[in-house]
Amino acid sequence: MSDSSGRLTRRLRRLRSGSGVRNLVRETKLSSHDFIQPLFIVENEADAGPIESMPGVERHTLSTLGGAVHRIVESGVGAVLLFGIPKTKDPFGKIAAAKNGIVPRAIRACLDAESDLVVISDVCLCSFTDHGHCGIVEGEQIDNDASIERLSEIAVAHAEAGAGWVAPSAMMDGMVGAIRSGLDDARLEQTGILSYAVKYASSFYGPFREAADCAPQFSDRRTYQMDPANAAQAVAEAELDLQEGADMLMVKPGMPYLDVIAKVKAKFPEVPLAAYQVSGEYAMIQAASQNGWIDRKAAILESLIGIKRAGADMIITYWATQAAQWLGDS
Ligand SMILES: [Zn+2]
Repeated sequence: MSDSSGRLTRRLRRLRSGSGVRNLVRETKLSSHDFIQPLFIVENEADAGPIESMPGVERHTLSTLGGAVHRIVESGVGAVLLFGIPKTKDPFGKIAAAKNGIVPRAIRACLDAESDLVVISDVCLCSFTDHGHCGIVEGEQIDNDASIERLSEIAVAHAEAGAGWVAPSAMMDGMVGAIRSGLDDARLEQTGILSYAVKYASSFYGPFREAADCAPQFSDRRTYQMDPANAAQAVAEAELDLQEGADMLMVKPGMPYLDVIAKVKAKFPEVPLAAYQVSGEYAMIQAASQNGWIDRKAAILESLIGIKRAGADMIITYWATQAAQWLGDS
């Protein structure tokens, strides 16, 4: 903008003239408290170790989990999201609701290691069913209402083991309401629900399916996960989950859906919003930096600040511990 004599009246570069002033005027700040570290725990010890498509991420056993949790907490990260991979699977994912299954045992191991840790458990069927779908199937259809009953049983098993938060990710209609009723009936009214309210049928989940051993064996997940082309429907999904009793909401993935994060936050500013920076987002930056094509640390921190600037209050990221170590603000 300039005045009548053509002189510039507003020079925004003054606000960027040195790191001191840039620090003062920075609108968005990352903190180690923003992050949630996802963890994979295998029941079969032979399946533990590095995940090829996610360099730097490994699958833990119950015996290595405690050490991992100590390192996470030491970095300043206070929350984990647990995914269990069982030894055996069946068409109905019955084992997912077993009180002594891999996830309840992992929850107890985390709390034994760090009693103040916020333990969030992923509640779904896809790692527990032999067909790899997130619900119970009838022929090649997903039976929504049978699935939400099972999801509710799983959530109760996790909460009874001590999970403070359950995170249903199956994208079944009514799943949050079924889980809230199941928890309340079991006198677990203090257990919170972080709903994967807005989860897209994304091609960025590829590496995760190797990690969690949950690739669908037939068809795909487009009859339940959202169409990447839709944003108005994201608000409807979020609204329904809030009506059913969700305490916190999630948008997944992160970077390709920043507009959706902004839209959901604008519509429900009072509701804590998480974003999941998924395995494909992780793998892209890791692969590019391994080839020397990108500055790894700068790209990771920029990807995280972008997600937070869009409106996420918290970020589920495989770099949680790493980023917290860099920030050093715990
Ligand atoms: Zn699933």
